[in-house]
Amino acid sequence: METVLLSDSEADLIKAAELIKNGEIVGIPTETVYGLGADASNENAVRNIFAAKGRPADNPLIVHLADFSDVVNYTRSVPELAYKLAEHFCPGPLTMVLPKNDSIPMVTSGGLETVGIRVPSHPIMHRIIQLSGRPIAAPSANTSGYPSPTSANHVMRDMNGKVAAVVDGGESEFGVESTVIAIESESRVRILRPGCVTREMLLEYCDEVIIDHAILNELEAGETAASPGMKYKHYSPKADIIMVEGELEAFTEYVSKHEPDKSFSLIFDGDEGSFPYRYMTYGGNSLQQAHQLFAKLRELDDIGAEKVYVRAPSKEGVGLAVYNRLIRAAGFEVIRI
Ligand code: AMP
Ligand code: MG
Repeated sequence: METVLLSDSEADLIKAAELIKNGEIVGIPTETVYGLGADASNENAVRNIFAAKGRPADNPLIVHLADFSDVVNYTRSVPELAYKLAEHFCPGPLTMVLPKNDSIPMVTSGGLETVGIRVPSHPIMHRIIQLSGRPIAAPSANTSGYPSPTSANHVMRDMNGKVAAVVDGGESEFGVESTVIAIESESRVRILRPGCVTREMLLEYCDEVIIDHAILNELEAGETAASPGMKYKHYSPKADIIMVEGELEAFTEYVSKHEPDKSFSLIFDGDEGSFPYRYMTYGGNSLQQAHQLFAKLRELDDIGAEKVYVRAPSKEGVGLAVYNRLIRAAGFEVIRI
């Protein structure tokens, strides 16, 4: 199949929407990362998404809507708290897991009776949903297991020949996938995957926000995942990622003792001055790190890095999302110094 690169012109967005109505898959920019979009109610189209990504069939897809009020068409019941959160965080990088109805096929929900619903704020994604008139299932547009794509070029690298089109919308603003939450009562939510809507932000609108155990810990054998994506090795470049947590001086000393000439380091903006080995930087604060992380992991592969020491980010605020992606890329090993 030839993959067409589309622009953000209205004519091209109409083409993208037509493709989706015809059951094709399109790479689409969103404010989090690029998604692989298809009609969420079309089982064949959804199966093709899983095939293009090499994604395990039990890893559910998020369904994207143009407006949160459309949620009633795809769910059995919606708690008041979901509407309250939607008022403040939709459109935006928040996914709410809700009981699905029969218009969402089981292939889309990975066999679950629930569906993750998100209303993206990116004008291109928003327009394509409107023009297609369909709910759009869209996982991240990477090959399963590899870092998520934050540019059309990344999508082309992974999906050229596998999808009908990719719309170029420049770099993704946030750079990490949406915050996924389960609503456990009218006053309590559980974060299943951290993103740019943080625990602190959610706490303004409900009494209790639980950080699911699987966000920072590897699941035990036999333990079921509240969020199925959490059980797979994820976000990994080809290079071996080693997370090292500590001050710059201790980090540098650790690298110096572990074959520094055979590795790269991924350090913070501002660390460069006194760092004597090969490095790349990935931002100076959590928002910058979220924005840059996946692109840097891909770049490290492009330059042939085999071993990468990463200076572990903060776990505060948006930092938790960055830490969560990195700890998976590192296979859950963190060296604390
Ligand atoms: P991705 O599409 O690559 O952003 O991954 C979506 C992730 O959201 C999945 O891997 C799940 O962990 C989570 N998710 C989506 N739908 C559900 C659901 N119905 N229940 C729990 N987690 C979900
Ligand atoms: Mg993904």
